[in-house]
Amino acid sequence: MIFFFLALSQNISSQHIDNNRDKVKDSLYDATIQQISEYKYAEAINSASLLINTSKKDSDDINSFYGYNLLSEIYDKINDSVQPIYYSRQALKHALKTGDKSIMAGAYNNLASTLDETGTEIDEALELYTKALEIERSLQDSVFLNPALNIAELYLIKKDYDRMAAYLLEAEFSLKRARDEYDDPQIYLDMLWGDYHFAKGQKIEALKLYDNAFTGIERDSLTYLAVEFYPQFIKRLIENNAPEKANVVYAALLKHIKKSHETSEQHKIFRASVLAQQEELKRMRNENFLKQEIARTSLESRQILNFLFVVILVFLVIFLLSLFRNIKTRQKLINDLQHKNRELEEAKEVAEKSVRDKTRFFSTVSHEIRTPLYGVTGVISLLDDREDKRLSREEMSSLKFSSQHLLGIINDLLDISKLEGQEFILQNRAFDLSHLLREIFSAFEQGETEHNNTFHLDIKEGTPQFVKGDPKRLSQILFNLIGNANKFTYNGDIWISLRAEAIAENWNEIYFEVKDTGEGIDQFSQRKIFQEFSQLETSNTDLKSIGTGLGLAIVTKILKKMDSAIELKSEKGKGSTFGFRLNMKQVSVKEVLRLEKDNNIDLFEKYKDFLKGKRILVIDDNAINLMVTKKVLMGKGIVVTTVKSGEEAVEKVKHNTYDLVLTDINMPAGIDGFETSVRIRKHHPGVPIIALSAAETKELQKKVKEFGLQDLIAKPYNQKELFSKLIASFQKTGKVLA
Ligand code: ADP
Repeated sequence: MIFFFLALSQNISSQHIDNNRDKVKDSLYDATIQQISEYKYAEAINSASLLINTSKKDSDDINSFYGYNLLSEIYDKINDSVQPIYYSRQALKHALKTGDKSIMAGAYNNLASTLDETGTEIDEALELYTKALEIERSLQDSVFLNPALNIAELYLIKKDYDRMAAYLLEAEFSLKRARDEYDDPQIYLDMLWGDYHFAKGQKIEALKLYDNAFTGIERDSLTYLAVEFYPQFIKRLIENNAPEKANVVYAALLKHIKKSHETSEQHKIFRASVLAQQEELKRMRNENFLKQEIARTSLESRQILNFLFVVILVFLVIFLLSLFRNIKTRQKLINDLQHKNRELEEAKEVAEKSVRDKTRFFSTVSHEIRTPLYGVTGVISLLDDREDKRLSREEMSSLKFSSQHLLGIINDLLDISKLEGQEFILQNRAFDLSHLLREIFSAFEQGETEHNNTFHLDIKEGTPQFVKGDPKRLSQILFNLIGNANKFTYNGDIWISLRAEAIAENWNEIYFEVKDTGEGIDQFSQRKIFQEFSQLETSNTDLKSIGTGLGLAIVTKILKKMDSAIELKSEKGKGSTFGFRLNMKQVSVKEVLRLEKDNNIDLFEKYKDFLKGKRILVIDDNAINLMVTKKVLMGKGIVVTTVKSGEEAVEKVKHNTYDLVLTDINMPAGIDGFETSVRIRKHHPGVPIIALSAAETKELQKKVKEFGLQDLIAKPYNQKELFSKLIASFQKTGKVLA
């Protein structure tokens, strides 16, 4: 019953426009209807599908129902036997969900008619029509009961004419009652009533009804009904002697067949085009799928390649980095090694040079020492051979010179070694510079008689009187330079001058100069004289003029420590000028005042008599030194006890008391000076102890303090220093009142 679909669709469409349905769905719905009417089935399928998809998204069952219903209708029109049933079932599913009775009835009816179409599912179709009819009856709406008509037709097939008549009556009744005008149902009713009467043998009645139907079909040009109904009508007209009418119907049928043929041709074409489109769609889908697959695989392989590339890149970077690091480490190692090699080579050179220097130094020293030593031992052996043990004046002077020279060399050597060591520290104390210069000057001026030289002291104006520095070392430099000037000048002049070259707020640069009119030094020799033991050939045969050859070396070394250097201007036969610059700090007024006070205290002069009668214990493992010290001390009226070891000293203090102890530090045979002091103090707690040592290292000085000794006297000592220190020590322990 093909007519039914359109009728239902149009009915529902108009119904829902009033309900202000969703505009998009409305337009999709209307478009589908339009496309179906124009046989554009492919587009119609698309629109209906779109309507379904949109509705499903919104869970809009009403429109889903319409969509499926339309799809079912379209597939029915293109003579598909399976899809209409499937889509009608879907439509029913959604219709039941809507809970809308008229929709549900429509859905049952539609599904039943698709099943009915196939002619195989009559019972199911009957059942579904019945459900639809029951719903429509319950609505008690003034509509045409379409299912009743459909059921009547099924009972015709089943040849149950009574039931058929009952349903036909119900349909007819509802049609009459219906608000709307229906044409098709009336034609259909006529056809079915015709069938009924024909089956019942009421042929006239039947042909009359058939004729009514014919008139309706022709009026409305309902080709689909004509091709279905006219052949049977013609057959029955002929059987009932109405050939004229049969002819008329036949002519109409031919017209309708022609039209139907065209339509069905069109159908075929549309169907083919839909199928082709479907095929194309399928092909496209496959192609797309294939493309996607290819893209996916190529993406996958590209991803794998990318991954591999990244992995390789990472490894490469790591490899390069480690290579770079290795190279850098290696380069650093090589550089370090090269640097160390250079250092080693330098150290080796220094060591070699120092070995060479030492060898040279020792051979020179031993040679230098041997000469005066021969003098001493020679004279002594002369003395030994003589009966009267007397020496001539000349021999005596030679002995005195040789031994003094020997002592001079040794003192200078000690000085040099001290200057080279790390322990050498310059004093930095305030002193009266002009006073110092005047003292040195007068020492030479008064002492000099042999060379007949005139000394001049020239302290330029602006030279500060008080400065800070090391007066002892400055004197040493000046004594050496003035001594040399005097040594190598005869009947000449010697100028000692100083001037301030630059005066700043805190410091002064003072230039010292010793100038003579002596024999002078040639250019070549000028470089040599500053080396140790360098003495130039001299016309001077005076014994007293012979030096150690160490003086200028010492001067150079001290000046270097003072960040200065010696300058020499000299020409052979024209005298020499030795000069140097010193940066000396200025002294504060407070320091000057303290200095003035100190200068007035000459301990030795003041307390020289005080030492008389003092008891001093002297400890020295060297018998000669012990004897010399004893003689020196006894010369001042001191009561001296001598012992050769620390152990002996401890024994002594157990039974005697002493005012002071003088102890040698280094005594390899027994306990050393420090240990001796500790043990002495156990018996004689407050006794002042002074250490005697050839060494004067910082470490030793520290130890002296730690062991609570009063002082340290460096050997060889001069008598004034020895006595000053003895007095100072008594002063500290309260034995001398200031
Ligand atoms: P020395 O103890 O022999 O004087 P120095 O190192 O003080 O040793 O001097 C080295 C040498 O330099 C001297 O022996 C002498 O030949 C030369 N000399 C130093 N000062 C003078 C001077 N003022 N005039 C001439 N020659 C000098």
